[in-house]
Amino acid sequence: MRSTEKRLKARPDDRSFAAEFGSLIAPIGIMVAAALALWLGPALPPSLSGLKEFGAYFVLVAGAGLSLWFNRGRVFVATVSLLLVFAGYRYAFDLGAESFAARAVYAAALVLVPLNVLSALLLPERGVSYHGNHRWLLIVAFEILLVAWIASSGRSSFSGVAWQEMLGENWRLHSPPVPLIVIGRVLFSAAFVAAAWCAWRPRFSKQGGPVSTIAIGQAGALVAFVVACEWAADPAVFGVFTAAAGAILLVGMLQESHRLAFKDELTGLPGRRALQEAMAGLGPRYVLAMADVDHFKAFNDTHGHDVGDQALKLVAARLAQVKGRGRAFRYGGEEFTILFPDTGLDDALLHLDEIRASVAGYQMAIRDEGRPKDKELGAKLRAHAEPDETLTVTISIGAAAPGPAAATPSEVLKAADKALYRAKNSGRNRVSRK
Ligand code: GH3
Ligand code: MG
Ligand code: MG
Repeated sequence: MRSTEKRLKARPDDRSFAAEFGSLIAPIGIMVAAALALWLGPALPPSLSGLKEFGAYFVLVAGAGLSLWFNRGRVFVATVSLLLVFAGYRYAFDLGAESFAARAVYAAALVLVPLNVLSALLLPERGVSYHGNHRWLLIVAFEILLVAWIASSGRSSFSGVAWQEMLGENWRLHSPPVPLIVIGRVLFSAAFVAAAWCAWRPRFSKQGGPVSTIAIGQAGALVAFVVACEWAADPAVFGVFTAAAGAILLVGMLQESHRLAFKDELTGLPGRRALQEAMAGLGPRYVLAMADVDHFKAFNDTHGHDVGDQALKLVAARLAQVKGRGRAFRYGGEEFTILFPDTGLDDALLHLDEIRASVAGYQMAIRDEGRPKDKELGAKLRAHAEPDETLTVTISIGAAAPGPAAATPSEVLKAADKALYRAKNSGRNRVSRK
């Protein structure tokens, strides 16, 4: 089938680079806030000092709970691992910073946390409950027992003392043995690379999806937790940076949920829900326009649904560049809404006609997905091949502003739809006004 062989070349879109930097702001901001909290810590009133201890519990329990609710298995694994390590750390620290239990929990933090995060990233995300398979709960139980068994070495006959020899006696949390540091760094680096890969992979896929803020959250949380472990001898630093790791995971998950609710998956434009919110917040002066791709059913029939999808993305990218404070939304299917707040109809029509002409003049290049993978063979074949095929589509637009006949935004939208109908009937590839 033709649609599986050919695909429109989607060009990277500048706005998504801005969005990527935007998604880095939260993790960096949270880490800066954590550092500031520690720096200003002594100036805090004593009533707030408990935050250093309980802040991490609060954030991690909230993160684990929300990940269950949103069915996000990877965030669940990360928050539960951090929660258990933090609880173990608090317990062991109460036994004494110099205790063997503190060293055992510290070693577990360096090894098990990145290992759990890495394993969750390497396995496909299937939610917390995958076909009711809760085998991973056994793994958690095994890890808790293992750490408890090792940490109680020397204090219970059950554990013996061999672990003490193995983990070494003569080190403290601020100067761990070199092999442990090396293992920890290798595992954290591997988990970090896996998280960064998961974050940016959608960006470089054929479909060119958005970066995953959940995976950025995982990478950021790993960095925050490395800082926590680096200064683990100081319970305030460990507590605050573990809380920061939990907060970064939480924010990454909330950002993704927000995107899923408000952004259209295919085009990356804000969706219907975002349009409804924007319409609810309008003042008395605005313009609403409906745009619809011309003869799109025939386009799909000729080139296939996949090429149709790519064409919609390219049209959306053009519409997003509309000038004059206009904002494009995907209304549904191949219909888009453009909203101009605080703008008169004549001004908006100028910008709308400009964007109509820009879509009509856009030569969309078709890339043949069936071409040989072998570069030399590909080059030889291309030398004899036809130049890249290009396709064009046009859009029709109807625009309306509030007036006596249409007072509310939803009435104005209906009026814009009627104007669109006229644009279609009078030949398409044009802009009509109410
Ligand atoms: P007109 O110029 O009158 O608008 O003609 P049209 O063929 O575009 O008519 P209509 O708007 O009724 O057709 C909509 C078509 O758009 C039907 C459907 O095949 C296609 N379509 C809607 N949503 C999508 C989508 O997400 N992807 C693809 N590939 N096609 C879509
Ligand atoms: Mg339509
Ligand atoms: Mg159409």
